[in-house]
Amino acid sequence: LTAPDTALPSLRGAVAGLPPYVPGRRSAGLDIAALASNESHYEPLPAAAAAVAAAAGTMNRYPDSAAVELRERLATHLGVTAAEIAVGPGSVGVLQQIITGLCDAGDDVIFAWRSFEAYPILVELAGARPVRIPLDDAEGHDLDAMAAAVTARTKVILLCTPNNPTGVPISHECIEAFLRAVRSDILVVIDEAYVEYAEAGSGPDSLALYRQHPNVCILRTFSKAYGLAGLRVGYAVAAPAIAEGLRRTALPFAVSALAQKAAVASLDAGGEMEARVAAVRQERARMAAELEVQGWRLQPSQGNFLWIRADDHLLATLVDAFDRAGIMVRAYQGDGVRITVAAPASNDRVLRLLEAHTASTI
Ligand code: PMP
Repeated sequence: LTAPDTALPSLRGAVAGLPPYVPGRRSAGLDIAALASNESHYEPLPAAAAAVAAAAGTMNRYPDSAAVELRERLATHLGVTAAEIAVGPGSVGVLQQIITGLCDAGDDVIFAWRSFEAYPILVELAGARPVRIPLDDAEGHDLDAMAAAVTARTKVILLCTPNNPTGVPISHECIEAFLRAVRSDILVVIDEAYVEYAEAGSGPDSLALYRQHPNVCILRTFSKAYGLAGLRVGYAVAAPAIAEGLRRTALPFAVSALAQKAAVASLDAGGEMEARVAAVRQERARMAAELEVQGWRLQPSQGNFLWIRADDHLLATLVDAFDRAGIMVRAYQGDGVRITVAAPASNDRVLRLLEAHTASTI
């Protein structure tokens, strides 16, 4: 026997190269406004909370791995079949299934940038190549540039509408033209995490696009408008063969029984969710109008958040001011700051803070 080697097992290169995980500051006191993660500020829907309480007694059992009840309820809700639905632990979990299920090492995944931070991470983890296409001047997807970036190696294209963090949607007509222009063996994912907050007609009718183009995959979540971020449940709608493949790549029992039950109850309580969404939209409009008067120039957002483009100097000023005010927002170095639209009182705090910085910074 030789002396044990003291070297530790090494992480794969793709993992070692990922940005370190930095946990967000938890809202320790009531004074902290949690506006950094686009969560719903409402308490859980009563029906969802009741469903979780009723299911709590089954915690000693594994959940239904096939999520049959939830998939069937979603199928009815959307007008598709349960065979076309795959669920996962958050839509980010489903997205990981999509990328690892479709991409071989060296395949390209094209997405707009800046967009959802998880995109490049999941792509690199899968050993695929992220291809970032800069947003256009109006903070939206540059679909012409995205189509021009397609090569023989392109396997997946991610479209985010309304886009996180800019709030800008992609129109139905633009995606339709895009889908006609790209090969049908490329999976085009339409990530609609914030779709419930969008005004009717501002974004695509994604289900109609999916029916015309079976290489479309719609990605949605219960984390945002439905207020179940803490339970982790999202889903994809895709052609049956793709959805079936996604279900095969899932971790066994990835979506808890409590999450499945809460999601079903939330769909049943859709009217209540819509009333909450309408209130957030109204607050979004109020904030946008007031910020316009203050002199800020923002693109209209269709998400439950506002986006302020800022150079690093302005960003540092704003981050410092928000921090001192106990308001948690999301800062993106080199790009800007994203602020969740929440209850009127915390929105007012944001407005007062931004007002104080208008004159000096823009
Ligand atoms: N897509 C987009 C565009 C998002 O912003 C988020 C969450 N920030 C997700 C997907 C993932 O959400 P979840 O995993 O909670 O469903």
